[in-house]
Amino acid sequence: MTPDRPTPNSLPLILVVAADEAVRFDIGQGLTAAHYDVIECDTVTEASSFTLDTRPDLVLIDANLTGAFEWVRALTVACRTPVLVLTLPNGVDQALAAGASDCIVPPLHGALLRARVEFALRCSRAERAVERLTFDGAAQRDDANHHGLLAYDTFVARLEGKLGAARTGKGHVALMYLSVDHEFSAPATVAADARRRAVQITIQRLKDGLRSRDNVSQAEGEEQAAQAALISDHEIAVTFAGLERAQDAYKIARRLQHLLAQAIDIGEHRVRIPTSFGLAAHPEDGERAETLISSARSAMLAARAEGQGTIRFARPEMNQVIFERLSLEADLQHALDRGQLLIHYQPRIAIGTSRIVGVEALLRWKHPQLGLVSPAHFIPIAEESGLILPIGEWVLREACRQNARWRADGLEPISMAVNLSPAQFRETDLVGVVRRALDDAQLPASGLELELTESMLLHKGDSTVKLLENLKALGIGLAIDDFGTGYSSLNYIKRFPIDTLKIDQSFIRDMLTSEQDSTLTTSIVLMGKGLNLTVVAEGVETRSQLSLLRALGCDQAQGFLFSRAVPPEEIAPLVRAGFPDFLGAKPGSSSGLRGILNP
Ligand code: C2E
Ligand code: MG
Ligand code: MG
Repeated sequence: MTPDRPTPNSLPLILVVAADEAVRFDIGQGLTAAHYDVIECDTVTEASSFTLDTRPDLVLIDANLTGAFEWVRALTVACRTPVLVLTLPNGVDQALAAGASDCIVPPLHGALLRARVEFALRCSRAERAVERLTFDGAAQRDDANHHGLLAYDTFVARLEGKLGAARTGKGHVALMYLSVDHEFSAPATVAADARRRAVQITIQRLKDGLRSRDNVSQAEGEEQAAQAALISDHEIAVTFAGLERAQDAYKIARRLQHLLAQAIDIGEHRVRIPTSFGLAAHPEDGERAETLISSARSAMLAARAEGQGTIRFARPEMNQVIFERLSLEADLQHALDRGQLLIHYQPRIAIGTSRIVGVEALLRWKHPQLGLVSPAHFIPIAEESGLILPIGEWVLREACRQNARWRADGLEPISMAVNLSPAQFRETDLVGVVRRALDDAQLPASGLELELTESMLLHKGDSTVKLLENLKALGIGLAIDDFGTGYSSLNYIKRFPIDTLKIDQSFIRDMLTSEQDSTLTTSIVLMGKGLNLTVVAEGVETRSQLSLLRALGCDQAQGFLFSRAVPPEEIAPLVRAGFPDFLGAKPGSSSGLRGILNP
């Protein structure tokens, strides 16, 4: 059972960790008599579960326990809790090296023990007071420049509020702790001034960076910027709330670090300000604000020890996830130059004629060690790292060239669908990029269709309508991909110049077994037809699905029933032959159909 932390203003809390019950009893008795609150544990595991939430003012631990020194090290770095170690004289050096404040060598003497405990507590309080003083002094000196960052206490209180909300609601809370490294390469004469300026500039950049966080509204960005605190004269903590995954904190930290790493001019000198970042996630790295801050701080110390420009999570397994992602990203950087990216093309069939009317360009990555990596896996990485812009443009240009080649080879004209990422959609000159791709390939605009997702259309309102109208003015087609998984509102579809709806494959997969999915598919087809849109079913795998779609009046189908995405040279024979086997295919099972058509 975890005892609760005594209420504020209560006695100092001492955690006594020893295997020997008699030792625990003696110490406990003595300290309780001297007006301390005491919790006793007999293993390091049990003790560490207490310190996470019930933060003791001091720990007294027997050096003989398994894992004692590792824990002392973690505790003193992460929580800065004073620790007294019970040890024989030959263990003293090791204990002090692990971060112990002091050692107690048996035989235990009651009065002496109490004096050592009291002394260690006083030192710890004094240390914290000095830290606070440094903080207050710095804050006053640079008040104007630090304006907008919270004081430590306010920060902790707000973070505590967010943690409370996170326990009941959705989304992760993470804490970023960053330190402006003092040893950056400014000449000695300007060093002192430079340091101050460096911190000021870092804070300003950080605030700007937090405000302009991608994919957040202005209000959210402002709120984010307001959740930063100055912890010491060169350390800053920032709260991130409402994250989808804890790893997302890494994404933000990385972008901020990149921003902070840009060179600045201090006097006549151009310097770069190195920063180290530590990240901690709730609840894994701490249930409470102060534990989370401590965890993030120790992660920052680990990052700093590894060298400039490092970001570390408090937990090793998170660092492993990030490491794998980073190596994949580093490989992806070269994939384009090294010819590892390919495009395969999946046919899109007119259900009425069973002939190919178009293809969808689907990106493939042949990784030299990992083999074929799925776009579902690497497109998000390309998006996060910004690589999606050159890669996406390459796909667009190559797909246009390929379509023009087929036409030049005498193949009947088909349409080329290209998937667009949100970042491309936000790009300032998307219209120019598309126009150049068409011109350079000498492909008529009617031979290209761009696939967008519903989420891309949600945010910008009128500017999105304008952008889509400009794209349409080029003469290309516009499709909504994965329709039904997002907002799916009739009203908003009407606002945009869309030609095609692609029903998400999840509905097609389950429409014969799930009444809900068949109803949804039916209504999407009817709605699409009502708005004069071409309706495409994605992920068609069986004849029964095809028959049902035909009966509903769905225009086109795409899926493994016809063909997977194949290399470009395999497309021409398929276009010539079509899929006559599927002309007028009879329903394998019509029960679902009857249910829908004759309610
Ligand atoms: P998407 O645009 O919805 O593409 C359809 C995905 O469904 C493709 O997966 C395709 O191979 C798969 N599929 C097609 N027919 C069937 C079927 O009958 N059954 C099943 N189970 N799956 C089927 P793929 O190629 O793995 O691509 C996944 C996603 O990656 C795409 O989804 C698209 O969002 C993204 N993507 C692929 N290429 C690009 C690209 O060049 N640019 C961008 N931005 N995204 C791309
Ligand atoms: Mg698509
Ligand atoms: Mg899709």
